[in-house]
Amino acid sequence: MSHLPTMGSGPREPVLGGPLNRLRTPWSPLRRVCVTLACVMGLGAVQAADYSGPLFDAHLHYNTEAWGSVPGAGGPYPLPDVLGRMQRSGVKAIVANSRPNEGTRALAEATDATARAGVTVVPLVRLYRDRQDYHQWFGDESIYRMVLDELARGTPAGPYRGLGEFHLYESRHAKGPVAQKLMALAEERDLVVLAHVDDAAIDLLMAATPSKGQRLKLIWAHTGIGGTPVPRVAELLARYPGLMGELSYRPGLVCEGGLLCPEWRALMLRFPDRFLVGSDTWTNSRWPQYEDLMRAYRTWLGDLPAPVARQIGWGNGARLFGLP
Ligand SMILES: [Zn+2]
Repeated sequence: MSHLPTMGSGPREPVLGGPLNRLRTPWSPLRRVCVTLACVMGLGAVQAADYSGPLFDAHLHYNTEAWGSVPGAGGPYPLPDVLGRMQRSGVKAIVANSRPNEGTRALAEATDATARAGVTVVPLVRLYRDRQDYHQWFGDESIYRMVLDELARGTPAGPYRGLGEFHLYESRHAKGPVAQKLMALAEERDLVVLAHVDDAAIDLLMAATPSKGQRLKLIWAHTGIGGTPVPRVAELLARYPGLMGELSYRPGLVCEGGLLCPEWRALMLRFPDRFLVGSDTWTNSRWPQYEDLMRAYRTWLGDLPAPVARQIGWGNGARLFGLP
């Protein structure tokens, strides 16, 4: 099935193979009749059509390995290549955060190319100049100064809208002086934080803000990559109104047939305005998978009520960053 974003929500796709699957478009009256007939004749269960609306990729990196020595031109995944993957996937906006920030700037500066691809670039300041910074940023004053400088500089696509992605491999590092200062800065300047952390660190980061987590906008990368239990995820979402869960790599999310596992489906129905999808192109091997990753999201989104699918696929990210 096509995934072009111009398609609306359609009729249900039959599981059965055979002639039904050879009909050319999901919109033909003939197909609608056939689907109905399939139901009437008891030919088997039907499953939802994939979500076909726009996607907001809320976790994208354009790192130096992708673009090589010249941002956007020299590496295995130059700008026209990555923009093509987004366009073919119906991705209409991306959170761009790259190591180093030149990758994000390359996306943000390519205003004509991104406009042609129909992709809005939302730039975030990354805290890393190199791999070493992953393990020490939370206590490194030079990172704090770099962030202030980069925020002051802005991008051709507009001001930076957030900080991250950053990682905390030990939750106690959320108490590092630079981590604490950056969380306060984010809340004061209304910057969105993208954090790859565990659930304990969520509490610690939120506690570092003037509002004690009531006003900070924080995208929780992977929503607990270590498999934070769903009731604990729900507890955090209920406690912090600005906490959003991004779902790449989340263990236990998807069950049989590529559909949501029941407890995740229930969680999304309880908090439909709090989840986002993302590619997490942290390594070059993710770029060839880009379209499949987005297709997989479309599969399980299609099993949700249409308004909820649209919120998680697009609306929550658009609202968070003020896109139309
Ligand atoms: Zn990432």
